[in-house]
Amino acid sequence: MCGIVGYIGFRDAYPVVIKGLKRLEYRGYDSAGIALIDEHLKVFKKKGKVADLEESVNIKDVAGKIGIGHTRWATHGEPSDRNAHPHVSNNGKFAMIHNGIIENYVQIKNELQRKGYSFKSDTDTEVLLNFIEDIKLNNNCSLEEALRIALKRIVGAYCILLIDEQDPSTIIAARKGSPLVIGIGKGEHFLASDASPIIEYTKEVVYVNDYEIAIVKADELVLKNLGNEKQTPFITKLDMDLAEIEKGGYEHFMLKEIHEQPESIFDCLRGRLLPNEGKIVMNGVENNLDKLQNASRIIMVACGTSWHAGLVAEYVFEELCRIPVEVEYASEFRYRNPVINNGDVIIAISQSGETADTLVALEKAKEQGAFIFGVVNVVGSSIARISHAGAYTHSGHEIGVASTKAFTGQLAVLIMMALKIGYSKGTITEERYLQLMKDLESVPQKIKQILQNTDNIKAIANKYKDAHDFLYLGRGYNFPIALEGALKLKEISYIHAEGYPAAEMKHGPIALVDENLPVVFVATKDSYYEKIVSNVQEIKARKGKVIAVATEGDTIIPGMANDTLFVPDTDEIIAPLLSVIPLQLLSYHVGVMKGYDVDKPRNLAKSVTVE
Ligand code: GLU
Repeated sequence: MCGIVGYIGFRDAYPVVIKGLKRLEYRGYDSAGIALIDEHLKVFKKKGKVADLEESVNIKDVAGKIGIGHTRWATHGEPSDRNAHPHVSNNGKFAMIHNGIIENYVQIKNELQRKGYSFKSDTDTEVLLNFIEDIKLNNNCSLEEALRIALKRIVGAYCILLIDEQDPSTIIAARKGSPLVIGIGKGEHFLASDASPIIEYTKEVVYVNDYEIAIVKADELVLKNLGNEKQTPFITKLDMDLAEIEKGGYEHFMLKEIHEQPESIFDCLRGRLLPNEGKIVMNGVENNLDKLQNASRIIMVACGTSWHAGLVAEYVFEELCRIPVEVEYASEFRYRNPVINNGDVIIAISQSGETADTLVALEKAKEQGAFIFGVVNVVGSSIARISHAGAYTHSGHEIGVASTKAFTGQLAVLIMMALKIGYSKGTITEERYLQLMKDLESVPQKIKQILQNTDNIKAIANKYKDAHDFLYLGRGYNFPIALEGALKLKEISYIHAEGYPAAEMKHGPIALVDENLPVVFVATKDSYYEKIVSNVQEIKARKGKVIAVATEGDTIIPGMANDTLFVPDTDEIIAPLLSVIPLQLLSYHVGVMKGYDVDKPRNLAKSVTVE
């Protein structure tokens, strides 16, 4: 969370930084701010979105070829002008932005207050900044050295950019736990939380590692570790383009990303799923086939929507590979001293690859000897780098805060993995293997079909948008889709929604059912079909309003439901990839009809880099 941008070079920094912040706004939008050095250090900051900051700034005041900017997702201190970054140190010389949390900030703040330091904000960031200033003054050392000393004393996560009014030719950056990419131009450098603010200027980037400090000048980049030893920057080429991060005619990123799914899934399968040759090519799996197929247990570690992908994968891996699977919330897994045995495989699922809870959980499991396989969207991200092996989802840049195309990318990757492992292990027949490959291959086409006719989804959204609660029910492979449908509605439309296994509703949630409660059944034709038909009857008998996701050609469920969203027929293992699509659109339209900013839902941010 929090987006960070920095620029140093020959251009005016302000437009570069503002544009970059807009690209990173998905990471937080509680406040935005910018610091520039022209002759003096100048700081502009404002509660609200980047556009509010822009409006409040007089363009005549923003000269300077060096600048840092921040878009905030508040952790310490309410969203306000005062708590917005950049923060300025007590002597007025240093400005800093920060993504992360300094866990021992209270203790340091007390120490500094005893020395006479005062604080304008409630943030942990301002404490770290003054701590650095204090160390610099006491040791009479360089800012870089003071930073190094400070970082050794703090506990927590950070990506920081620091500038000094007296040295307008340098940005000092450091990271641990929160991401930082540096773009390398000719006579200029760009710094950002991800590559999207950088892509239009250069494709050459360096992903800074944990515990590294970067000393960035217009024409020089020096990386050092906390022991002050120089590190060789590893330059990689970005393989994304500008179109990917713009709205391309759609009203919202979320809608664009929903509509991109035929291509994003196609890209994910391309070159990997080869039904005609009866082959699945995934190097990360191939090179570790022994470990994977002989795993005594697979633990899926994830958060949010990725956790739902893990739940689908649990059903798929157990069915196709006959390996016991557990699905863990990363935040719980990390703190409860989990038992990890030799032969356990951890599959970490994360869109951003920066999810702090997941990252910390993996570090812990790795220490205990687990084999880590990352299923990640963002290339070069922290989780991708700490994993022993992995497979990218290749879903493209996802900007809408509510995950859509990254989720279906995760499902596609996980299903391919299970197919490959199961086939090699001999736990699925060749016939089923080939048939599932064909079904998976036809997913992009079938999603296209769903997306061609969305009028009825809009009509249903309009009919139910004023409901106060929703219940989402599903069984088997579609149970996690019920959870995902409910989560999407909550995130985007702020309507309370709960997902349950359809049979479980009898044990509690059915008490909520009356004529005002819309109940969404994910009820495609699968081996649980007869059972879910009975569950629909049970809701109808209590006058609940049923919205069903049903298989085209089915007449029974649509005959009972008040409203039906149809999806094409496919194997039950592949069905989640289709049944989630109308639910994504349903939440999107409800959110838009209620007048909410669906790309930036309140209180949320994408890429959750705080624990
Ligand atoms: N802890 C800082 C603040 O509250 C940064 C928050 C973040 O990175 O999400 O301002």
